[in-house]
Amino acid sequence: MTLKLHNTLTGTKDVFEPLQPGHVGMYTCGPTVWNFAHVGNLRAFLFYDLLRRQLLASGYQITHVMNVTDIDDRILDQAMHAGTTILEYVKPFVAAFFEDMRALRTQPVEHYPRATEHIPEMIAMITTLIKRGNAYVADGDVYFRIDSFPRYGALSHLDRSGLRAGARVAADKYDKESVSDFALWKKAQPGDEEVGAAWDAPFGRGRPGWHIECSAMSKRYLGETFDIHSGGVDLMFPHHENEIAQSEAANGKPFARVWLHSEFLSDATGEKMSKSAGGFTTLRDLVGAGHDPVAVRFFLIANAHYRQRLRLSTEALHSAAEQVRRVREFAERVQRARPAEGEDGELIRRVGEVRAAYRQALDDDLNLPQGVGHVFELIREANAALDEDRVGVNGRQALLDLIEEVDGHLDVMGGGEPGLAEEVERLIAEREDARKARDFARADRIREELRQRGIALEDSREGVRWRRVTPG
Ligand code: AMP
Ligand code: ZN
Repeated sequence: MTLKLHNTLTGTKDVFEPLQPGHVGMYTCGPTVWNFAHVGNLRAFLFYDLLRRQLLASGYQITHVMNVTDIDDRILDQAMHAGTTILEYVKPFVAAFFEDMRALRTQPVEHYPRATEHIPEMIAMITTLIKRGNAYVADGDVYFRIDSFPRYGALSHLDRSGLRAGARVAADKYDKESVSDFALWKKAQPGDEEVGAAWDAPFGRGRPGWHIECSAMSKRYLGETFDIHSGGVDLMFPHHENEIAQSEAANGKPFARVWLHSEFLSDATGEKMSKSAGGFTTLRDLVGAGHDPVAVRFFLIANAHYRQRLRLSTEALHSAAEQVRRVREFAERVQRARPAEGEDGELIRRVGEVRAAYRQALDDDLNLPQGVGHVFELIREANAALDEDRVGVNGRQALLDLIEEVDGHLDVMGGGEPGLAEEVERLIAEREDARKARDFARADRIREELRQRGIALEDSREGVRWRRVTPG
């Protein structure tokens, strides 16, 4: 096992070795469910999935934790505006997150802890920080004293001369200009009670800040020191710096050993996609525009290395779909192929070579685009060999094995939905019959069944039309 990962802490690609042989503990910062995830968020989540798959392919067992942040400044604001509780407010967005993950074929992780279900763990950690002098109460809020943590800023290589000791910032999100003591706990405001966002604590009634959530939940599921922590680059500062400060100060132990950060997805204009900035695209938008979630998956993981920026465009999605089609067609062709009498030794050698190159690319800090590049070269050569009937039993098996290994990361095979159109048309016809017979319950059931399979029906003057939507 020679997996190398780029560790933000060291700034170098290091050979990965877990604390406990054979087992990896990993925490990846999940969604803040104040809205639908945009494609930029999805890039980060798919990167976590790629990392997970490569760890599994390397033979490790894994405990992977991905939090669901169901309380933060924005969720509170939104719930207040909507006149509902935070719990009710986030429900559809939590459901949408899991639908997106399914549609994009991410592997389920071991734990999806929700912040509001771990308030006691957060209170315990804040209590320890106050006891140890790393935090203080100010007018009902609790702040982390960054002066008490000399290593503050090591992850993002922060210039500590910018630190403003004693100055305080209450917002969950802020930039380097405002680096100063940050909020662990925010005193309950009258509105907080109404939206169900206030809890009792020894230091006063209130609610947690965003950063303490991840420190408390990673400790609960992975312990004080664990192997990998990851998130998008925008989380490096302040979120991850704050997590390190809170955890290491409270536990007196090192926190995560390896930190991985994935780059941004930008929109067509080259700007970082962001929910706050307004112009963002969701998976629903893309699916509504006719894109296959599997093509979106391929685009997000295979078209750029995770530490490179990637730009979303219709052309890029179309070419990703085309690449998926090529891989699938090739796989189907090999499966169907009747083995030739002889073997082409040169082809078998090439398959071995490409397999080694593919593994090497993935071991080199998850360079899937490079690995896939090797595979596409081979596909051209192997197609030629199939044309000329040069692929024997062993050659065919070697190709099938390679496809299986590559699809362990890509996961684009299957679900090609051959016959989908016919099946949908048949159900639409059945629904029409039911309607004519005034059996509306049955008609509705058919519509619902299709909706759950990701097909939406639209009654138009030309008859019933259907399109793909995210299933659910
Ligand atoms: P949030 O839901 O805002 O907490 O973000 C969830 C994840 O998406 C985090 O890991 C962010 O770093 C990541 N993220 C946010 N915007 C982008 C973007 N434009 N491109 C890639 N990742 C992003
Ligand atoms: Zn986090």
